[in-house]
Amino acid sequence: MAATILDGKQLAEQIRRQTAQRVQRLAATARAPMLAAVLAGDDGGAVLYAESQAKKCAELGIAYRLERLPGDASQADLLSLIDRLNRDDAVDGVILQQPLPKTCDAAAAQSAVRPDKDVEGASPMSLGLLAYGRPALLPCTALAAWELIKASGIKVEGANAVVIGRSQIVGRPIGLILMQNHATVTTCHTRTRDLPGVARTGEILVVAAGRPRLVTADYIRPGAVVIDVGTNRVTETGADGKAAKKTVGDVDFEAARQIAGSITPVPGGVGPVTVALLLRNVVEAAERHIG
Ligand code: NAD
Repeated sequence: MAATILDGKQLAEQIRRQTAQRVQRLAATARAPMLAAVLAGDDGGAVLYAESQAKKCAELGIAYRLERLPGDASQADLLSLIDRLNRDDAVDGVILQQPLPKTCDAAAAQSAVRPDKDVEGASPMSLGLLAYGRPALLPCTALAAWELIKASGIKVEGANAVVIGRSQIVGRPIGLILMQNHATVTTCHTRTRDLPGVARTGEILVVAAGRPRLVTADYIRPGAVVIDVGTNRVTETGADGKAAKKTVGDVDFEAARQIAGSITPVPGGVGPVTVALLLRNVVEAAERHIG
């Protein structure tokens, strides 16, 4: 039987509705949550992304403040702005739009964001808090994978979970989240021996390798929940013989869906949930600040 499709767009809509209700409650009793975005220079993609973020915040009633820096801003300029936002009681969340100026150390800047305002969950402190099982704002993509696993209905406690990828922003945190929820977790990477064999032990398989269609049918345990985090732009020749760009995941979706119990599509799986969860993190941060 073909797998159930875990629809990320639908889940994202549900998360947005719940988040909007939380925003209304905060606005009625105290104030609206506020997200501050730091944008250095005028990179076209980053500006467009900031505009789309402002629109998404407005739709939910979240206040949005764009803080611009020149493209040649120094590390001291950036750290001074982050420090100001850290101290500003009106600001609940801070995000650093990529790319940061080449003159800046992105990791050091991310580390400077106060953990309770790190709504991307991207700083070493946030990952450390997660590792210690302490309340923290979780990295949005790992959290999106987790929300989709929950949506599948699988009993996570005691389940074998395999994560392919060990990056600080996706692979490691999703492994920690699964471990905290009592799964038995195996993390795989480029040096893992017999990757298909190890992957096949997973009742839950999360793939975050950044390799188009790495995971084929022989990686999948029958009935497994497969979460494809990969987002790869590839050029492929269509049925009409013309080459076209498209986005594909790390999983060969058509082959995998014949074996898996449930599976996320790409696009339309982890991506939209990640975007919705950034805003939920802002509200989460605001509730802690105001509460
Ligand atoms: P990364 O390059 O930082 O890490 C990739 C990890 O996968 C590494 O730990 C590496 O060891 C492992 N890996 C790579 N090739 C492998 C192979 N052949 N076999 C086994 N392990 C292998 O990437 P990342 O930032 O973790 O992102 C992973 C994927 O997730 C990318 O496609 C990225 O675009 C996507 N992503 C999606 C979202 C989203 O919102 N949907 C957000 C972040 C990242």
